[in-house]
This record gives sequence, structure tokens and C-alpha cells, in this order.
Amino acid sequence: MADRPRFGPAGVPPFFRIIGAQLSDVPRLLREEGLDAFEYEAVRWGQKPQIKKEQAEKLGFEAKRNDVLLSLHGSYYINLSGEKEVVEASKRRLIACATAAEWMGAYVVVFHMGFYGRESRTETFKKCKEALSEIVNTMRTLGIEKVKLGPETMGRHSQFGTLDEILAICQETEQTQLVIDWSHLHARSGGRLRSAEDFREVVVKAEEKLGTEAVRNMHCHFSKIEFTYKAGERRHHVLDDARYGPDFRMFADVISEFNLRPVIICETPILDVDARKMRDILREITEK
Ligand SMILES: [Zn+2]
Repeated sequence: MADRPRFGPAGVPPFFRIIGAQLSDVPRLLREEGLDAFEYEAVRWGQKPQIKKEQAEKLGFEAKRNDVLLSLHGSYYINLSGEKEVVEASKRRLIACATAAEWMGAYVVVFHMGFYGRESRTETFKKCKEALSEIVNTMRTLGIEKVKLGPETMGRHSQFGTLDEILAICQETEQTQLVIDWSHLHARSGGRLRSAEDFREVVVKAEEKLGTEAVRNMHCHFSKIEFTYKAGERRHHVLDDARYGPDFRMFADVISEFNLRPVIICETPILDVDARKMRDILREITEK
């Protein structure tokens, strides 16, 4: 939960790798760039944490010291609506992610819930919700109480995770965090985020369902996005690419108007550079 709007990259920026930075150097380097959030990418993880506890704790320590808020993007290999073995393995993968998040002090595990497959939307919703509640229970048994689970709004029509589905899941499951991927919403709706009013509508709807605090503290992903009408999301693009939406300026207007304090994770190919660009756009708007 952020004390102000915060900005940061999804994963280690390419330039940090070029200069040979270690994971524990990342918070300091981000702070030097004027950024204050970092999403650790655990997207290829299996059923066990693929980071040593010591290394995770060191990252957490450096993040605190440099005032960088940590989140963790969970494994892509999750489908809470699949066959029984797939769901059970998915649960273990999410628990592994939550365990590492607890070690590093990350406040949320962001993840993709799964696919409809041959199931109806109602059946998929039921399965996802049940599996998620079981994961929350296991986390509690393991003493993981500070980490929240953040099912994300998804960009492809085959994926569970429309805005309505995510709001309902968050409403009905404890220990969840609202995660809005604005690019995914844009892609899935065939490019509907075209004005500040379109962003406002989403914020108002989320507030009606989850309350003011949940909305003020939303976790966000943002990038320009290419999509097809048939399948949805295709590719992420840089902020300056005029061919694609959505326009961050419109969201910044709404952040300012509603006094939101979201954590905004930049998912464009030039992670930290565009994160700074978004930070500057918001600053310009709020100081007006
Ligand atoms: Zn994601």
C-alpha cells in the first residue's frame, strides 16, 4: 500500500544489467533515477522459490533503505481453472511466490488467474474463486499474512480477468489487492480508453464495488499496447509510440482528480525510462 503515487519498472531495467548491477543494487539505482517502486519478476518460477531467502531479504532491506516499494509478479504458469493437477500445481507455484514475497517484504503477488478453456464463464469464476480462497488459507497457515494476492485484469479474450471478474473476485476473497492493467483493459475492449472520462468510469465502478480505500491504493500496470479485435492483447510498446493507446496523461488527470495513490508499474520495453516519463507527466498535472 503506497503513501503516494509511486512509479517503477516491471523487472530489472536493461541498463542496470549492462553495468553489471546485482539484484540488491536495484533499489539504490532506482532511487538515483527518482523512482520508488519495483516489481520483481518471478514469472518463470516453478513450484519452489527460485531465489535464496538470504538474497530476497537483502533485496527487501535495500528496498526499505532506499524507499522503494516492492511487489512481485507471480509465475505465468498458473491456471486456477484447469484440470485438477494443473490447479494443484498452480496453487503450489503461487505459494512459492507468496513465500518469496514475504521474505523480501513485497506487499503483493500480482498474477494471471487462468483461462476459460471449455468451461463457461460462471464455472471458471467459481473454480478460480475456490482455488484462490484455498491459497489464502494455506498462506495463513504458513504465517504469510502481510502479502496480498493481486489477480490482474487480462488482455486476451481467452483469459479469465475482465474488469468485472476481477472486481468480483476481490470483493469475495480476503487478502486480495486490486490490480488494474490499463493496457490490458484497453486491448480487451478494442481500444475503449480514449478519454479521461473512460478512465474515470473504471475508477468509479471499482470504487462502487470495493470502496474508496481499495481504489485509492490500486496497483497498476501501464504501457502502450497493440491489439487485435479478435484475440485482444498483442504487444507492449513504448509510451511515445503515437500509433497505440492508452494515453497515460488521461489516467494522470484522473489520479489527480480523485487523489489516488496507485503504484504504477511500467511494462513498456524501456521500463525505467518510461516510468520516469509517467512520473513527470503526473507531476506536471498535479502541480498545475
Ligand atoms: Zn501480468
